[in-house]
Amino acid sequence: MTERTRFDLAPDQIPEAWFNILPDMVGAGIQPLPPLHPGTGEPVTPDLLAPLFPEALIRQEVSTERWIDIPGPVLDVYRLWRPTPLHRATRLEQRLQTPAHIYFKYEGSSPAGSHKPNTAIAQAYYNKEAGVRRMSTETGAGQWGSSLAMACSFFGLECLVFMVKASFEQKPYRRIFMETFGAEVRPSPSPTTEAGKKILGEHPSSTGSLGIAISEAIEVAATNADTNYSIGSCLNHVLLHQTVIGLEARKQMELAGERPDVVVGCVGGGSNYGGLAYPFMAGRLSGESPEMRFLATEPAACPTLTKGRFAYDFGDTAQLTPLLPMYTLGHDFVPAPVHAGGLRYHGDAPSLSLLVKEGHMEAAAYTQNEVFEAAVLFAQTQGIVPAPESAHAIRGAINEAIAAREAGEEKVILIGLSGHGHFDMQAYDDYLNGRLPEVEFDPAEEEAALASLPQIPLG
Ligand SMILES: *Cc1c(COP(=O)(O)O)cnc(C)c1O
Repeated sequence: MTERTRFDLAPDQIPEAWFNILPDMVGAGIQPLPPLHPGTGEPVTPDLLAPLFPEALIRQEVSTERWIDIPGPVLDVYRLWRPTPLHRATRLEQRLQTPAHIYFKYEGSSPAGSHKPNTAIAQAYYNKEAGVRRMSTETGAGQWGSSLAMACSFFGLECLVFMVKASFEQKPYRRIFMETFGAEVRPSPSPTTEAGKKILGEHPSSTGSLGIAISEAIEVAATNADTNYSIGSCLNHVLLHQTVIGLEARKQMELAGERPDVVVGCVGGGSNYGGLAYPFMAGRLSGESPEMRFLATEPAACPTLTKGRFAYDFGDTAQLTPLLPMYTLGHDFVPAPVHAGGLRYHGDAPSLSLLVKEGHMEAAAYTQNEVFEAAVLFAQTQGIVPAPESAHAIRGAINEAIAAREAGEEKVILIGLSGHGHFDMQAYDDYLNGRLPEVEFDPAEEEAALASLPQIPLG
């Protein structure tokens, strides 16, 4: 009998509620620290967020409920591509000659090619319900902007995207993708906002960063009553929406008759990995599966979890956002332009940061060539060309599978494959032709960036 390698849920098995990890963290004695007001340093009250987000999302941001119902119109859009497939990567296992069983949950099957529509759809829906006319946001490599542009077109909202200038220039197809859905795309830093003008005044040739683009997008939302801001990662409500990934994967692993020993994902701001990991993490925190391991992976050029500091910091360069307790390389840190644009963020989700700090998650950083070696091996065995971001998770999983081979262990590995790499062919071309520089993390630059951290004690 041939072994089954694909574990599909029926169309009516989409989760009907999102999963909030907070009650399980508190139950395990892990108390999150509150976000602080950027001016006063006092805990943030909902009214500070009201100019940027609709009330429903602010409530989700601070919710202590374990389950939050997914509205019908959001489920209707999810049905266009969810449930997403879970595959067993038997061909990769054979190539590695590992006794490990490798599974991957594939979010690249969404229309935008990544996990990001899971939250973009929900955010567009709640903003439309609240009577908002236009959404403003930032995008790095273009994945988030693509997802929000699509979501806005479904719900009849305008969409303004500040795209990091380096990507705007290198990735025209992503820009055109957004424009196809009716979005307006501006390269960031732009001369259309105060934050952008300030950066251009100091650094006329700036190629931008996610932190700068966030400042521009927030400024537009804060100064226009009909415009709200939308964020693609990091905040609680974003990770919450992404838990459809892990809730489906949990059922699919049951179909496969296995339980993961280690759950691996890549971390930019933490949303796809949090979304996959948290439904499994609940078991670790409750003591049901205390030995399950969690491995968060990131680029060596932007090693937030492995080399950053756990501290209060701003989410953006212009210091407009609340102060978040998280692993950070400093809000002034501009990572080298590696190809995994979605992983070039100075901070990480507070909940995920806390789980790393408390020892419930491990973290590892890889160089570009290590990552693309894994990506090409995956493409050649499984047929999917992964996004450079997702390839970090594949690298982590391959390392686990090799360790299992050396130890003769039949370990079960679950990968979060957050997206496909069809818009990243230039990166593959650079790797295949030996033109991929090994971008080193510069500790001196990090020291300088960390020196700008606000001096706020942790609790
Ligand atoms: C944006 C992106 C990421 C990183 O963002 P997270 O919020 O950490 O998930 C990872 N993979 C892909 C394909 C992305 O588009």
